[in-house]
Amino acid sequence: MFSWFLVEALKIISDAAKHSNDMMKSMEQFEKLLKINEKIEGEDIIDPTRHLLKEGKITKIANKSKDPQDRYIYLFNDILLCCEKKRLLAASTSFKVKLKLEVHGMKVSDSDNCRFIIEGKTKSIELQTNTEEDREDWMAALLSAIREMVRKKESFKTNDAVGDRLITADDEDEDEDKFVPGKCEPRWIKDDETTMCMRCGADFKLIKRRHHCRACGAVVCNKCSSFESALQYDNNKMNKVCGKCYYTLRGDVEELKKLERRSLITELGDEASFGNFLYLQKGGWVKYWVVVTDQDLYALKAPKDVRAVLTIPIKLYTVSDVDAGSSDKEHVFKLTNGTDGRMTYTFAAESKEMKKRWMMVLTNGLEGLINKSQTI
Ligand SMILES: [Zn+2]
Ligand SMILES: [Zn+2]
Repeated sequence: MFSWFLVEALKIISDAAKHSNDMMKSMEQFEKLLKINEKIEGEDIIDPTRHLLKEGKITKIANKSKDPQDRYIYLFNDILLCCEKKRLLAASTSFKVKLKLEVHGMKVSDSDNCRFIIEGKTKSIELQTNTEEDREDWMAALLSAIREMVRKKESFKTNDAVGDRLITADDEDEDEDKFVPGKCEPRWIKDDETTMCMRCGADFKLIKRRHHCRACGAVVCNKCSSFESALQYDNNKMNKVCGKCYYTLRGDVEELKKLERRSLITELGDEASFGNFLYLQKGGWVKYWVVVTDQDLYALKAPKDVRAVLTIPIKLYTVSDVDAGSSDKEHVFKLTNGTDGRMTYTFAAESKEMKKRWMMVLTNGLEGLINKSQTI
């Protein structure tokens, strides 16, 4: 059975590879995959379209206790495996898969102390590297994989209306890792990760009570959490959920569309993005979570906010350095509207490296960040 599959797989590779160089590369990649497959426990990773992008030791920060745990990561073009190393005999080691995330729908963001967060559709993990450089390498490799995946998925979509990002029950049916509310216990978004209800955008300064949707982990207001659904991970017991999860579980596309129309929400969707904290000059300096995609830059009061304080179409702006002497902050740069130069936004980063990274992204797009370190 296996050898039949191998023959088929090799045939697919040779069909896909147009000339001999590609062919050799594909063969090498496939051999590497076979070797990794032997070492991995509890997961068959053989797939002729899969190849390794990056691997290495990393520290995982435990979800609740925040304890550091030794892990080994394999990043492929389509999946990420977070493994625990097990020493069997003196000479041989094996890797037990603790978590598998699909690259499709994945998001990465910076955190402090060489940490970064990878959010998959169903689960998220916080990781830590030893050096800032290592973190940059990992983030670059991840962004590159996400971007490739988005590009591939885009080319499959033919008649899909642009802008309709509503995920419905029958949407993306080829996607085995799609988010199903209540299938797994969600990561609870921390209270300080959002300043507003993640469903209707109501300001938590005005309404004090915050609730968590038990299906998706979103922080929502009272009104938006007044639904109950049976959740699979909780033995199908009834749980408080948000409207979006409630209607998704019921498959009520009409109501979901109504919700979508009513909201003023900035959905970043599946786009590849890069984000961390920056200061924006607005009279004084105000700290925002700033996210950039290939099209726009968003300034948010907190990372999980659903409405941006500011949206800048970056293609219409040019980025330039600001002399540190002329400002009361260090690591300053500005975005100026290319046509008349009248609109200018001045930002300050928290470190020299971070400023360099932002200027690179804003000049060359996410591509700039990705190409910087060749990880493949
Ligand atoms: Zn709400
Ligand atoms: Zn929910």
